[in-house]
Amino acid sequence: MFSKVLIANRGEIACRIIRACHELGVHATAVYSQADRESLHVQMADEAICVGAATNTDSYLNMPNVLMATVISGADAVHPGYGYFSERENFADALQALGVTFIGPPVEAIARMGDKASARAAAVAAECPVVPGSAGILAHEEEGLIIAEQLGYPVLIKASAGGGGKGIRRANNADEFPGLMRMAMQEADASFGSGDVYLEKVIENPRHVEVQIMADEHGNCVYLGERECSVQNLRHQKMVEEAPFALLCEETRREMGAAAVRLASAVGYVNAGTIEFLMDADGNYYFIEMNTRLQVEHPVTEQTTRIDIVQTMIKVASGEKLPFAQSDIQTRGHSIEARITAEDATKNFAPSCGVVTTWKPPQADHVRMESHVYEGFAITPFYDPMIAKMIITGDSRRQAIELLASALDEFQVEGIKTNIPFLKRLVASEEFVSGDVHTGTVPQIMKKWNGD
Ligand code: ADP
Ligand code: ADP
Ligand code: MG
Repeated sequence: MFSKVLIANRGEIACRIIRACHELGVHATAVYSQADRESLHVQMADEAICVGAATNTDSYLNMPNVLMATVISGADAVHPGYGYFSERENFADALQALGVTFIGPPVEAIARMGDKASARAAAVAAECPVVPGSAGILAHEEEGLIIAEQLGYPVLIKASAGGGGKGIRRANNADEFPGLMRMAMQEADASFGSGDVYLEKVIENPRHVEVQIMADEHGNCVYLGERECSVQNLRHQKMVEEAPFALLCEETRREMGAAAVRLASAVGYVNAGTIEFLMDADGNYYFIEMNTRLQVEHPVTEQTTRIDIVQTMIKVASGEKLPFAQSDIQTRGHSIEARITAEDATKNFAPSCGVVTTWKPPQADHVRMESHVYEGFAITPFYDPMIAKMIITGDSRRQAIELLASALDEFQVEGIKTNIPFLKRLVASEEFVSGDVHTGTVPQIMKKWNGD
């Protein structure tokens, strides 16, 4: 086991990883920006190193500084969390050169699966169904037009390096295609440092279903069940996630799990990863991408499998064998996560900053809170607006929903505006309660919410 792990992240996920380190008896080093001096992850860590000014590019995305902090701390491993360097192969590569373990997959697996177009090719090779689309990156506009015509409109133009819902454009016809493709390429270049785009046919009103996998370096790979994440905003960002997907039949569950394991094994995957699928109204499922990292919504899987994914990641990275086999994985109950953001639900979800004067999350056995916020903490405009995750676990989906509704009612936050009012409305909606949701459901509810 490692003696010291550096956490190259901030916010709730840095706190979550520090806790896992401590539970394993491992020292935790935090990094922080000048704006995050007072952050909870800095207080929780055994030591903390400032890596730069407030903006992400100056600090958390400043690779020389984060690598320098790693060397100074003497950490023998780095956990990247999600976002930031978690899917950057050059970061994992640089750590390897320094003799420091990257707590995540091998560099080759990030390279292969982190790029969406090449991940699609790997999925096809592993006989995992993919959304109909282009065979790879589009060489030019003309090629895009030809393939779009073959697929049939509407099509999605997707950034191969995209993530976090960014870099996706929908083209409804050939007239708007060229302009949208140019825009998508520029946007992808600006956001991800690569203008590569590919095409996928639009699956109308799909469900987003993803499979959590975990593999060790001794050839073992298992799936830890699925998560349903169709509750997404207009920008394809997940808002509420749950496990299991209550409407999935046992046969399809096993099939999807097997497909995910087959694909992960085919690319030599090690550590935690998520294979994302879209499911159409007829129950057909299609691979869309793999996230080669810890996922925001991992807690719902932890709650239902009673497996600590973050601890397991650290153990596997240190060379240990997976402590469970597929036959040991059983899920119990139903867990739902709601992402709480510092966004004003009454003002079109505009970011909200300021000092949190009241922070009283509900306290009960069925409530798990993951957050870096406390009373007196200042929310700054520099980072992702997610300030907490509320994870509710019940015996059944129905019970979990009831408990979630009352937990949202109980949660008191003052000083900043949040999306809680919208979450309450969502959780009470007929669509959500019945489970009859798809990725277009929230945008529909939002339209009504905004009164247009
Ligand atoms: P998950 O896939 O775990 O549900 P999200 O897609 O919501 O998570 O992304 C988690 C975080 O990581 C978000 O803050 C998002 O902005 C960021 N993120 C994910 N992928 C990328 C990427 N390729 N580039 C930049 N940020 C990313
Ligand atoms: P990201 O890397 O940003 O998470 P994904 O490829 O996982 O991008 O897609 C994010 C979301 O965008 C999906 O969950 C889904 O809502 C929507 N989406 C992506 N591809 C398609 C598609 N081919 N048809 C319909 N919706 C899609
Ligand atoms: Mg995705």
